[in-house]
Amino acid sequence: MNPNVIEDLVGLLGRSNVLVEREDLIPYSFDATAALRRVPEVVVFPRTTAEVASVLKLSQKHKFPVVARGSGSGLSGGSVPTEGSVVVCLVKLDRILEVDARNFTLRAEAGVLTQAVYDAADNAGLFYPPDPGSMKISTIGGNVAENSGGLRGLKYGVTRDYVMGLEVVLADGEVCRLGSKCVKDVAGYSLKDLFVGSEGTLGIVTEVLLKLVPRPTARQTLLATYARMDAAAATVSAIIAAKIVPCTLEFLDSKTLRCVEDYAHVGLPVDAEALLLIEVDGHPAAVADDAAEASRLATARRSAFSALARMRPTTILEDATVPRSELSNMIRFIQETGERHRLEIATFGHFGDGNLHPTFLTDERDADEMRRVEAAMREIFAHALSLGGTITGEHGVGLAKKAFLRGQMGDGSYALLRQVKRSLDPLGLLNPGKVFDP
Ligand SMILES: Cc1cc2nc3c(=O)[nH]c(=O)nc-3n(C[C@H](O)[C@H](O)[C@H](O)COP(=O)(O)OP(=O)(O)OC[C@H]3O[C@@H](n4cnc5c(N)ncnc54)[C@H](O)[C@@H]3O)c2cc1C
Repeated sequence: MNPNVIEDLVGLLGRSNVLVEREDLIPYSFDATAALRRVPEVVVFPRTTAEVASVLKLSQKHKFPVVARGSGSGLSGGSVPTEGSVVVCLVKLDRILEVDARNFTLRAEAGVLTQAVYDAADNAGLFYPPDPGSMKISTIGGNVAENSGGLRGLKYGVTRDYVMGLEVVLADGEVCRLGSKCVKDVAGYSLKDLFVGSEGTLGIVTEVLLKLVPRPTARQTLLATYARMDAAAATVSAIIAAKIVPCTLEFLDSKTLRCVEDYAHVGLPVDAEALLLIEVDGHPAAVADDAAEASRLATARRSAFSALARMRPTTILEDATVPRSELSNMIRFIQETGERHRLEIATFGHFGDGNLHPTFLTDERDADEMRRVEAAMREIFAHALSLGGTITGEHGVGLAKKAFLRGQMGDGSYALLRQVKRSLDPLGLLNPGKVFDP
């Protein structure tokens, strides 16, 4: 990196907000995706939108790539630095700016943790539903950039459904405010939606305006275990057919539930082949309540990734997603694929959304095993697509899945995607090499 650029960055942000020493940079060389890493040239911590804009203006001037980063909990390599890049880490934009209880909105800077958004809404008697398993560590800006889902997606939807407005800094440093507090607002293209799920490739989100909803007054959690996985899938179909929409309908296969029990000790039945965690919420007349037990079970489910990560040196968590009607077909295929390639794959996920997390328990140092992992992954994605599914339900494309994107989208839509990127980032400096090759 040109030393003048570093001095300019120090001039803009102050020395304590610019990291350049290798040992300081290493923690920013990876996210939560296995086997992807690159040490950045510089990491900067802007504290205001104006500082973000000044960094992007400098990037245009000196043509260095910029990688936005929240907490680095991403599971597709989105915030892994690209060659010669400056990482713009947004964790110091960490203020909740407003909870508007009259309009049911919350305005926050991009680096606020998802849990803090939830808590601020809760303190006002309101509810912010999207709850990625990582909500205690992920930033709201990262959630917007990935359009993250969560355990309550079935009833409440995903992050996009709660984004009413955004403040975004464009590649050239221009600051745009998109959307408004109006429940209905159809003035112009819905540009905010372009930035939701754009994985840091179109602009840097500095502020979010979120929709809140009334807090449900009661919740009940039910744990159902099955000797056969097909029976769990049939239960899900029956629940939906009965027009009951639980807020959570989570699935754990036998391997995952044994690992979770070993890790969290909540008394899960380890001899079951499948487990469903079902949560309904609403009016107390419709829902009985045992908050402590419910929270214990939800915490156990949220620990699935950590529990599995203890089993082997490398944990690769995927999120192939299919229409709900194809769930048992897909799970069976994942199991057979694991056996065929002599791999350990545990599967859990958001069953109600058809969103599965086949998780490879592997070792990145074993080249032969990694080749088998890649082959199995390709087959799993191809099968998901053949069932009308998608290569990613919530983790994004990033680096990890870009090789599969064109296959899913087809040439026309893929070309359109690149055209949008070129018009917003003509020099290709925002998170280059993510989602697709430059
Ligand atoms: C244990 C665990 C459980 C998880 N559970 C879920 C889950 O249930 N559902 C789910 O959807 N995901 C889940 N994830 C994945 C991850 O937490 C989410 O993708 C999350 O939204 C990432 O937020 P982050 O702040 O860590 O972003 P990062 O990982 O730092 O960045 C993610 C992407 O967003 C971009 N980005 C970050 N901030 C901004 C910004 N302000 N402006 C523009 N671009 C930005 C980055 O460039 C990158 O492309 C889980 C991860 C872990 C480790």
